[in-house]
Amino acid sequence: MGKRERAGDPLRLARPGLVEMPGYEPIVPVDVLARRLGIPEERIVKLDGNESPYGPSPKVVGALARFPYYHIYPDPEQRQVREAVARYAGVDVENVVVGNGSDELLDLTGRLFLSPGDVLVNATPTFGMYEFVARTYGARVVEVPRREDFALDLPAMESALSEGAKLAFIASPNNPTGNPISRRDLDRLLATGAVICVDEAYAEFHGDSFAPLVGERDNLIVVRTFSKWAGLAGLRAGYAVFPAPVAEVIRKIKMPYNLSVAAQVAVLASLEDIDTLRERVSAVVAERERMIERLASLPWLRPFPSQANFVLCEVKGMAAREVRSRLQERGIFIRHFDAPGVRNCLRISVGRPEHTALLLAALSEIGASVGK
Ligand code: PMP
Repeated sequence: MGKRERAGDPLRLARPGLVEMPGYEPIVPVDVLARRLGIPEERIVKLDGNESPYGPSPKVVGALARFPYYHIYPDPEQRQVREAVARYAGVDVENVVVGNGSDELLDLTGRLFLSPGDVLVNATPTFGMYEFVARTYGARVVEVPRREDFALDLPAMESALSEGAKLAFIASPNNPTGNPISRRDLDRLLATGAVICVDEAYAEFHGDSFAPLVGERDNLIVVRTFSKWAGLAGLRAGYAVFPAPVAEVIRKIKMPYNLSVAAQVAVLASLEDIDTLRERVSAVVAERERMIERLASLPWLRPFPSQANFVLCEVKGMAAREVRSRLQERGIFIRHFDAPGVRNCLRISVGRPEHTALLLAALSEIGASVGK
């Protein structure tokens, strides 16, 4: 310290609400997992992040190796990449904003609409990022639990949204439950006048999207990503389709260089290799159905239908947490849930067929060891 007195704890000057806010539950990187277990990284079966088991298109790897302009800032207006994304999503380029994963688009949506004290409606159980975003902007989260079949409780959603809520994030298909929202339900939510942000991170595995509807609705936002179907989770590339006037403001308030040139190159190369990526999506969808069937053959597991690249599974007569730990000892990583609506559940990302085989062999052993 120079001449100035010590100012004391700088956090006393921080915005109220942020210091005591719970953090987003972080994932543990593969190298850390492997070291912890004492097994080589390539033996880890990572079915906990809904990532692509096939990785990016080979064209992405080639394009990144050849790209000559890493020392130049990216285009803040994202012209080239927005055009390619708009063509892919079947929307107008003026509606599109691209960002550092779809998380950033969720954050920007929160930044535009939520002031301290505003209300975000959250249809739980769902992706934890929605509550996290709301809290970082000081908004209040009104939870509307989903029905037993994980569909939205529409009357409850409508009344929560009509009581002055500004925004709802709705994942479709939902994470971790795997079910999409119907057009009828969406129309009813939109009719409340609140901003409805449909998060379509898993839309490619469902085969349907509301993105083309954005041009016809003033209060609909659709967020999508290259993380899952295109295998770019580590490169961070997502986008949102906003009503044109909203898109214009979002482009103004975002950080100018929010999409790295590497992510931009990767998105463009992915969209030039769409057939390969679509084949991989088909492989994941086929594997999902096979995995559901095989999980259902174990009497102590109850897998739910899924339109995404993961399967939620209720565990009966055993603690799901214990199953998760026993799999982990064998190098197989999955997610565990024990919250209202998803009591004693596991969420398993769909991997390659050989991953399913390892998973099922391990589950059979675990089941046998407790006499199931
Ligand atoms: N939305 C949902 C529903 C998700 O499950 C995830 C990833 N876990 C995301 C968004 C974030 O994806 P991205 O990598 O594009 O930030």
